[in-house]
Amino acid sequence: MSFITDLECVSCGRRFFPGELDYTCPDCGPLLGTCKVNYDYDAVQQKLTRANIAARRNYTHWRYMPILPIERPDYIQPLAVGWTPVYPAKKLAEEWDLGALWIKDDGRNPSASLKDRASSIAIVKALEKGAGAVAAASTGNAASSWSAFTALAGLPTYIFVPENAPRAKVAQLLLYGATVIKVKGTYDQAFDLCCQAAEKWGWYNRSTAINPYLGEGKKTAALEICEQLKWNTPDYVFVSVGDGCIYQGMWKGFRDFYRIGLIDKLPKMIGVQASGSAPLVQAWEAGADRCEPLVPHTVADSIAVGVPRDQIKALKAAKESEGKFIAVSDEEILEAISILARRAGVLAEPAGATALAGLRRMANQGSLGANASALVMVTGHGLKDIDGVLKAVEQEPITVLPSLEAVEEGLSET
Ligand SMILES: [Zn+2]
Repeated sequence: MSFITDLECVSCGRRFFPGELDYTCPDCGPLLGTCKVNYDYDAVQQKLTRANIAARRNYTHWRYMPILPIERPDYIQPLAVGWTPVYPAKKLAEEWDLGALWIKDDGRNPSASLKDRASSIAIVKALEKGAGAVAAASTGNAASSWSAFTALAGLPTYIFVPENAPRAKVAQLLLYGATVIKVKGTYDQAFDLCCQAAEKWGWYNRSTAINPYLGEGKKTAALEICEQLKWNTPDYVFVSVGDGCIYQGMWKGFRDFYRIGLIDKLPKMIGVQASGSAPLVQAWEAGADRCEPLVPHTVADSIAVGVPRDQIKALKAAKESEGKFIAVSDEEILEAISILARRAGVLAEPAGATALAGLRRMANQGSLGANASALVMVTGHGLKDIDGVLKAVEQEPITVLPSLEAVEEGLSET
């Protein structure tokens, strides 16, 4: 049994018993009525101490089980999710006048993106619910992750992706055995269509934000950061933002550990969007409490979102953490892919490198303060979007006949 007490609507504050509600508050609707998962924090505090966490041998995100929404641990699928590496990036820190810089590589998850954290929770909730079939809309990563878990659980899976979803992500979906519905339209249209279809045919829906448990999975990235940095949280955490679910989920993770006394400082959360897909930046700068919809254009497909589904929680998280949302150009994103690869050895897809582009911009503006510490989340692996990462490549291979003379000649021309 979990320590969940209730689900709480973030707009009207109405509380629901766990099990009473699967998605959003009926009074506030799917966009405004997203729900927060609350726990009996006194009970959780007894179960999670620095000492007993350190003694755990389970090096996946399940090491934080007492603060996760799982009623039936026997439904957990055997893929190793989480406990992804945090790398120090000392030279980049020096170059950007930072006290410390860390990079957490979540491309190292089973389906090569952070979304596995959420899918691993959602599959348990789907099975607890007795779902006969499941669905999701996604720009690609959430769906390919979900399909891995639903395949293991043996559930028929219906996936709605925009027509322009990268080929590698669609390949993952098909290989995991999902039925893939390519929507001739945007991600936002695919999302709405998936919700309608899930309701009509009774499929359990893993689409982001509306399902309150997804953020609980994503928060485990923050829990790991606390432990991996020996309970010294960085001043800033940089996260790329599309729907805002990872951003708000990670903030919830830091808040949860702060609340039970495992950390004594909260980071400022900096959400980084692509400038052609920046509704949260626009809302933030206008001081609005919700976003104006737009049609997104960016090389970073994972964050090409015109209607951020987790906008209410995301805007609250920016305010609470004294963080903000900033935008970077596609050119800066492509440069960040190259910097991450060459300076940190981490291959990121465009959205995965967007957070680093944001850090670089703020560091160059001198707006982080002297000696600040920062952590950058890399949310997805570079091989997820070959066409996208190839845009960051400036040089060509040297093609030669198989002779040493040809190699010598080829090298002399570079
Ligand atoms: Zn409500």
